[in-house]
Amino acid sequence: MNSWAWLRLWQWSCDAPGGLPLERRRGYEVMSQIFLIASLGHMAYACVLIGLQMPWVTLLNLACVAANAVALMLHRRLQLRRAMTVKMTVTLVVLSLSIFGLGPDAGFEYYFFLLLCEMLISDMGARYKVAMSVSIGSVAVATLTLAPLATPWMAGGAALHQELQIINLVAVFLVLGLIMWRLHVITERCEHHFRRDATHDYLTTVLNRRAIFHEADMLWHQQRHFTLLLLDADHFKQINDEYGHTAGDEVLRHLANTLRGALREHDRLGRVGGEEFLIVLPESEREEVLAVAAHIRQCLSDRPCQLDTLTLPVTFSMGLAASDEAALLSEVIDLADRRLYRAKSAGRDQLVMGELESVETTA
Ligand code: GH3
Ligand code: MG
Ligand code: MG
Repeated sequence: MNSWAWLRLWQWSCDAPGGLPLERRRGYEVMSQIFLIASLGHMAYACVLIGLQMPWVTLLNLACVAANAVALMLHRRLQLRRAMTVKMTVTLVVLSLSIFGLGPDAGFEYYFFLLLCEMLISDMGARYKVAMSVSIGSVAVATLTLAPLATPWMAGGAALHQELQIINLVAVFLVLGLIMWRLHVITERCEHHFRRDATHDYLTTVLNRRAIFHEADMLWHQQRHFTLLLLDADHFKQINDEYGHTAGDEVLRHLANTLRGALREHDRLGRVGGEEFLIVLPESEREEVLAVAAHIRQCLSDRPCQLDTLTLPVTFSMGLAASDEAALLSEVIDLADRRLYRAKSAGRDQLVMGELESVETTA
């Protein structure tokens, strides 16, 4: 098998089935990789043992390869507990047989700790983990107590104890390191997804209400000057009524993309309501904010939303408030809100800023 095929096998075994909820994927992927690493590890070990002319331990390792392959299949069918039980049972039996067959002190006892770690980081329930930990501990204690009393029955083992001990120590060290590294990578990836889902709007992928207000809150607490630009799409309900909700969703995505494209690098954009967006512009002079607002209007009129042959032009009413205009952040937000509704009642498609009485259109 070439390296590309190994990569395909790795990806195939780790791809979680579609129906699996996101919060179960970490456990699923970690166990998939453990089954695969264990299969490959036992296969490599079997090759070494053939070289050392130890046919019995080679056979036992091949049994472990088969057990891990079966476990991987069961795991992919989401029979997670059965998969784990197959792997643990066969590996424990093989370990005990190896220790009885070769005698103690050949380093096979290290694998009990590896098994315990694998089982504890799996996605099994607490009751299963307690039962399995007790089983692993009992088998380990019984084997290591009784093995010195029995006569080793595998030929050639005693002469290789020292080599086997080093091989086993290095193997456990490497496999444990590999598993911990994969656990870390998979956990990081899942946490990134969770963080993104918790802070971003699903439809438009801009920040959600909580995240954009958090951005403003952080600037407020750092006592940095910033401006809020609150935007509401005009007559948006008509689009839904005339062309349906799917078209409405498409227009919302288009609006979010247009806003995103019109902002500067350090500006932040969030969706705070159905067709309402908030832009936080840190350290911005009034002229700069006006330029951003004018740019948004320009972009919207230059590139209206296009659905097949249908062109759906949308305009925004905007309310603007600066952080130094009020004593509390909630008052600044209120101010932007009131100015936005002032823009609505003054005829829409315009920006209101400054005193409530002065309506300045950007048209
Ligand atoms: P105005 O100019 O006064 O803002 O009028 P409007 O029609 O934009 O405002 P209104 O508040 O009457 O309607 C907002 C509409 O936005 C109603 C709601 O169905 C629609 N809406 C809210 N969220 C979504 C969404 O996620 N997808 C779609 N397609 N429509 C949405
Ligand atoms: Mg609205
Ligand atoms: Mg609206």
